[in-house]
Amino acid sequence: MELSRRVAGLKPSSTVAVMNRAAALKAQGVPVLSFAAGEPDFFTPDKAKIAGVKAILHNNTKYQPTAGDTETRELLARIMTERNGVPGVTKDHVLVTAGVKMALYLTMQALFDVPAPGQEAQELLLPTPAWVSFAPIGELAGAKVVQMPTTTASGFKITPAQLAAAITPLTRALLLNSPSNPCSTMYTPDELAALAEVIAAAAKTTAPGLVVVADELYQHIVFGDVPFRSIGSFTSIAERTITINGSGKSFAMTGWRIGWVSGSGAFGKRFIEGLTKLQGQTITAVPGFTMAATRAALTECDEDLDRMKHAFKRRAVVMYDALAAIPGVKLARPVGAFYVFPDVSAHFGKSTPGGVKIDSAAAFAEQLLGLHHVAVVPGEDFLGEGYKHIRLSFACDEALILEGAKRLAAFIASLK
Ligand code: PMP
Repeated sequence: MELSRRVAGLKPSSTVAVMNRAAALKAQGVPVLSFAAGEPDFFTPDKAKIAGVKAILHNNTKYQPTAGDTETRELLARIMTERNGVPGVTKDHVLVTAGVKMALYLTMQALFDVPAPGQEAQELLLPTPAWVSFAPIGELAGAKVVQMPTTTASGFKITPAQLAAAITPLTRALLLNSPSNPCSTMYTPDELAALAEVIAAAAKTTAPGLVVVADELYQHIVFGDVPFRSIGSFTSIAERTITINGSGKSFAMTGWRIGWVSGSGAFGKRFIEGLTKLQGQTITAVPGFTMAATRAALTECDEDLDRMKHAFKRRAVVMYDALAAIPGVKLARPVGAFYVFPDVSAHFGKSTPGGVKIDSAAAFAEQLLGLHHVAVVPGEDFLGEGYKHIRLSFACDEALILEGAKRLAAFIASLK
């Protein structure tokens, strides 16, 4: 008996795989330092936890309206309008779902058709390196992923000319993730304006149905000089932009599984109606108490947000300085999210003291974990030039960062 081709061909998440491997070693008593997890080490803010518990005690434990409860959808519409500056968003333009992964899954299912035999697949433009699940989620929906390569030197950002050249009549969507996992760089408002101009122009000619999917999950974890701006706030492309966000990363609420999708104008409303049908036939709705906790996070936890943001800002400096001092390690300065994505390919071709050849990021990460007990994510699955890189999360305390960097430096010094 076989599984479907769709599932049989699906790659497991490499970040989850490293996390599991590190946890298994730890359980055996190995002193592993893990920089693999993409989640804050902080606890969910008390006010959010209390709101969740209160909701449970008040019996908010039954099925919820499919697209989310009215209070949460209205709050998110107000935030998208007032804080993110996106025009044309009402509660009917918002759907609450089980985390940003599900938000992306529903979005891709609603955008792409599986091509009929003999038909060409619609294209999903993806600047790479990109978070490991973007391509699989697009491909599950029938998209052909078209990579737009970026490099450390360009801050891992696509240029307007690169975007203009990549758009064809088959292009259905562009997926933007700023601040970026794994690169931790972000587009400036001017750069977003220039991309929006290209999109608006292409929509008038080459690709009338073009949609921008903006994963803005790291919106609040921004600590450089670049101010955050939603690409959906540019009126020329607002209606063709689908914005995705969630409470997991900003409010240390990854396990509460709350994400949301919002659109704008007539298309945005139809899009959310489509997603609501899909959600109704899959997960039904998200729990009411996790929505209550998220509302509290969004309205009462600004101090917690600030505290965590400042910690990430300090850690970004500690991590960058420690890694930039290691010979043959090249990296961009993180300005948002909580990752560094160093290029370690200068060491490919060398061998460990035991004679194991380091010929890839996977081999590098494997030996670093085995010999020095430091867990990092090898970059291959982030696509593009990711195969030269490793990803380290700095969602952990500064002492751990310094110790991890020391072990990484020792590992690199041992390679010959
Ligand atoms: N998008 C990006 C860019 C992410 O980094 C992650 C989590 N690593 C997700 C989506 C998934 O978020 P969630 O846990 O809310 O599903």
